[in-house]
Amino acid sequence: SFRSPSKKEPTLNIQNQTFNTYKKMSADVTLENITVKFDEFTAVKDVDITIKGGEFFSFLGPSGCGKTTLLRAISGFQEPSEGRVYIGGNDMAGIGPNKRPTALIFQNLALFPLMTVWENIAFSLEVKGVSKKERRRRADQLLELVALPGQGNKMVNELSGGQRQRVAVARAMAAEPEVMLLDEPLSALDLRLRQHMRTELREIQKRAGITFIYITHDQGEALTMSDRVAVMREGLIEQVGEGTKVYDNPATAFVASFVGENNAFQGTVSVVKTEKVIVSTGSGDLEASLGEDIKLSVGEEAIVFTRPEAMRIVKRNNTIKNVLNSKVVYQEFEGNFWHLILDLKNGMKIKMSQINDGSTQVYEEGSELKVQIDPKLAVALPFGPLAAE
Ligand code: ATP
Repeated sequence: SFRSPSKKEPTLNIQNQTFNTYKKMSADVTLENITVKFDEFTAVKDVDITIKGGEFFSFLGPSGCGKTTLLRAISGFQEPSEGRVYIGGNDMAGIGPNKRPTALIFQNLALFPLMTVWENIAFSLEVKGVSKKERRRRADQLLELVALPGQGNKMVNELSGGQRQRVAVARAMAAEPEVMLLDEPLSALDLRLRQHMRTELREIQKRAGITFIYITHDQGEALTMSDRVAVMREGLIEQVGEGTKVYDNPATAFVASFVGENNAFQGTVSVVKTEKVIVSTGSGDLEASLGEDIKLSVGEEAIVFTRPEAMRIVKRNNTIKNVLNSKVVYQEFEGNFWHLILDLKNGMKIKMSQINDGSTQVYEEGSELKVQIDPKLAVALPFGPLAAE
């Protein structure tokens, strides 16, 4: 029988003050013009960014864009070809991974199966020669932090996937890192648990107060957990900002197409007004807002992006702008949303989504619909590469 993970997994209680004894240390991380080359191939290109102490920061990008390589440069497993890494203001050049104030968590948690939970957590302390009593005390504190109080005597294989994930976090925390580096740690979990663990990880990070640097190709994860997100493509950072900024004000065509879903209308700029442009596309002239700090001129190639949830069905098209005639290809039900895949006159397919408020109509295949793109909710950006489907 089905049980929601929120019932199965104990939830963190932020009001619980037990963890105030945890020593808060967090360091900022500055990546100064970091380039990493493998022979002729450049995996990371001139990344220049400061991650603030105590920030939850994500690097988001498709497979192969250089996220892991960048994380390895921070942790000390990869020497950058150019540039410097500073942690807490200290230059990390020549400082090995085990001498850095960082801890790393992977998808493969690599917990010790033949040890109990608390032995796993206290392992690094034992190596350091911390007394058994103190190890036990610290492990109990950490179990409290990750919402597993009283579970210390269990064996690792007696835990659920989510609980193991938390033990891995506690174990990494035992070394008292100032910066936690997380390499797609949730990707092995099933969808529901993954979504649940997002909230949990974020709460743990807030309670511990340390810097988290998280890498993922999952935009949902990056948006829900992070204070800021850096979107990467082919070794380059395309945009850095809060999730809302990256979603609502994408800086490039790649960001617009990679973060969330977007319909992309390619064309040529025909009119430029203040903060607005008209782009002549294969689907007609579309008025759109100019992206923040974006300049376009008449004659330039551009793409108008509009989110599926930002379109609406209209009855007539004689008084409003940006109305497209379409035919329904199919309608799809996702519980909270109804999605419509529509065919435009020129053969382009677009997607529009309507919130399921209980009154949403069902449309037959082939029905004719007029949909409007609100110019305020459409953004025009210079032509550039799009994310692969
Ligand atoms: P994924 O999400 O698939 O792990 P990623 O964004 O983390 O991808 P990286 O693992 O950083 O990507 O790899 C970036 C690029 O650098 C890839 O094209 C990869 O093949 C290449 N690369 C990584 N490590 C090496 C290496 N040691 N030698 C040669 N090429 C490498």
